[in-house]
Amino acid sequence: MGSRICMNASCGTTTTLEWKNGWLLRSGGFAHLCRTCGSSYDNSTYCERFHLEETGWRDCSVCGKHLHCGCIASKSLYEFLDYGGIGCISCAKSTRPYSVRLTLVILCYGDGST
Ligand SMILES: [Zn+2]
Ligand SMILES: [Zn+2]
Ligand SMILES: [Zn+2]
Repeated sequence: MGSRICMNASCGTTTTLEWKNGWLLRSGGFAHLCRTCGSSYDNSTYCERFHLEETGWRDCSVCGKHLHCGCIASKSLYEFLDYGGIGCISCAKSTRPYSVRLTLVILCYGDGST
C-alpha cells in the first residue's frame, strides 16, 4: 500500500476521506490529490485557487479566460493556437484554422521564364 500524500505542494496532507486522481504524470499514472484539492482540479479551479501567486498566467486569446500556462495541473486546459497565443480548451476546439492562407498558392506562379 504505502502512504499517499496530496501532490498539491501547498497542501501535502496524508489524510483525506477520499483520494482523487489529478493530472496525468509523466510516468503514466495520475497525481494523488486529497478530496479538497481533487475537487478543485475537477472543477478546473485548481490553479486559480493554489497558483494565483505564481507566474505564467496568460489569457485565452479568444475569450480572455485566465490560464496557468506551463503548469502541469493546467496542461489539459489549454492549447497553443496555430496563429500564436494560447486558447482555453473549449476555444481551441471551436476556432477555425485562421492560419490557412492563400499565400502558398502565389509562390507557385513565380517561375514561368524561359
Ligand atoms: Zn490536498
Ligand atoms: Zn497551476
Ligand atoms: Zn477561451
